[in-house]
Amino acid sequence: MASATEIDALLPQTQCTRCGYTGCLPYAQAIAAGEAPINQCPPGGAATIAALARLTGLPVLALDPEHGSEEPDQIAVIDESACIGCARCLPPCPVDAIIGTNRRMHTVLAALCTGCELCIAPCPVDCIRLVPRSSFEPASPRPPQAADNRRRYEARNQRIAARARQRRTLLETRKRAAGDLLSQSPSGDAAANDTCSSCAPRSEPGP
Ligand code: SF4
Ligand code: SF4
Ligand code: SF4
Repeated sequence: MASATEIDALLPQTQCTRCGYTGCLPYAQAIAAGEAPINQCPPGGAATIAALARLTGLPVLALDPEHGSEEPDQIAVIDESACIGCARCLPPCPVDAIIGTNRRMHTVLAALCTGCELCIAPCPVDCIRLVPRSSFEPASPRPPQAADNRRRYEARNQRIAARARQRRTLLETRKRAAGDLLSQSPSGDAAANDTCSSCAPRSEPGP
């Protein structure tokens, strides 16, 4: 059997999860382990199934309809007049194809969008829809390639992991600083018992 890396190299890297796994690599690992058939990737469709069959020596199968159907390439479009700038569509995008900040209108970069649909459900005002990529020609004549998708997905994951590390470091630094303050106070826990002026109970106004 081929390795998960070899199988993953044949997958479209949209990370859409339609195969029933959390991304292309987990699906590739399941195929390599003999735990999943090769016909569960709608974005890859018949061409990917054929390539997987050649690589693994397994028989060609029809795409499993339980995982979707092979469709013309699509991209997401945001109705910018309806967008409330909540930014909930940003984190789910595996390839960072959406730009925008809090309380500002958001936009999809057509050249990067894989049409994975992962941004649609989180939108609270349903202002994201899929349209055929062909309606954007010639600005975006072809879908992003798997290698580009993988590179952008890995860069996104590295950024998320780096932010998580920064947050952990900041939290630990603050905890240490708070501990140092307590240990330096005269009675150990006196600082914790002090009440600052803004928290002190207000005295009732006199008659
Ligand atoms: S592109 Fe295919 S293999 Fe990758 S997550 Fe989507 S369905 Fe699964
Ligand atoms: S913009 Fe939406 S549909 Fe396009 S790649 Fe990002 S999450 Fe997927
Ligand atoms: S989730 Fe919807 S409303 Fe919120 S920023 Fe994205 S497109 Fe706009």
